[in-house]
Amino acid sequence: MFRAMIQKIGQVVLALSLVFGATAITGTGVHTAEAANPVRWQPGQLHIGSISVGQGDATLIVSPEGKSMLIDVNQSSASKIASYIQTVLGHKNLDYIVLTHYHADHMGDYVNLLKNYGVTVKSATYDRGGDRYAYNSTLYQTYYDYVTNTANNAKRVQMREGYYVNMGSVTVKCVSVGDPSTNQASGILTKDENDRSIALTVRYGNLDYFVAGDLSGQTTSQYTDIETAVAPKVGSIEVYRVNHHGASYSSNQYFVDTLKPKQSIISVGYNTYGHPVSTVVSRLQAYGRVYQTETASGAVKDGNVILLSTNGTNYTINGTSFVTK
Ligand SMILES: [Zn+2]
Repeated sequence: MFRAMIQKIGQVVLALSLVFGATAITGTGVHTAEAANPVRWQPGQLHIGSISVGQGDATLIVSPEGKSMLIDVNQSSASKIASYIQTVLGHKNLDYIVLTHYHADHMGDYVNLLKNYGVTVKSATYDRGGDRYAYNSTLYQTYYDYVTNTANNAKRVQMREGYYVNMGSVTVKCVSVGDPSTNQASGILTKDENDRSIALTVRYGNLDYFVAGDLSGQTTSQYTDIETAVAPKVGSIEVYRVNHHGASYSSNQYFVDTLKPKQSIISVGYNTYGHPVSTVVSRLQAYGRVYQTETASGAVKDGNVILLSTNGTNYTINGTSFVTK
């Protein structure tokens, strides 16, 4: 009888975990938002997945024609990213990888992903270019040596403002990137690596999406405001992949007022920088819903944030339906 009771309790626990399986219990309370598991891509479907990789970035875009692009590879995330790609595509052969800039939380596990996790690049690895000394870090030099070795087949291409990347019915356009030969981004002299981030608009039908690494929006002793020059090139959009993990020196008021994002996605994890800051979150909430992969204490919040659309007008984010503006 005692054994039967234990079994019974086991069944109840199992049943409860089935019911609440999609609910993440975190240090800051119970979040009812469904943490999306990656779903297998179907022909005719746009998939944009902000992969929950902690404090850093990794976004997978798959166009309705099956063209794939991975934007950024956070450090210590290769295993998670490779498994996400495999689940969505059923293979690990990407058309493109874009590394927005040379900070570890954006390109730290690139070499590991290709070398040890079987991910390949069919067409190009886009970065902001430059020689072995374009950025002063051992990580960058290791990356540089890897991508410039033709035996590794990484197909490095320098991204430039105005470049289009072919993804079938999805148009990807570079609207800003730091040029190592002039030290300018969007025609503005810069000195910080974040300012130099590759900024991309992604358009499918009426659905407009923007992603730009850690692009800066205020001029300080460290940063230079690039967002103000970029905003008119982007215009009003549906979904904003929030610059610099919701930091206070990005997503300036003019930029947010110009983009008017209906949904914003903050890719963030355990950090001591205070990302995301509440002023930025409130500024974004004035226009719509804000998703956040994890909390600053490293707990899961929304987890993976996955956008799906099959017609460029209707789209879902983690199962919630929206219509374009
Ligand atoms: Zn970053």
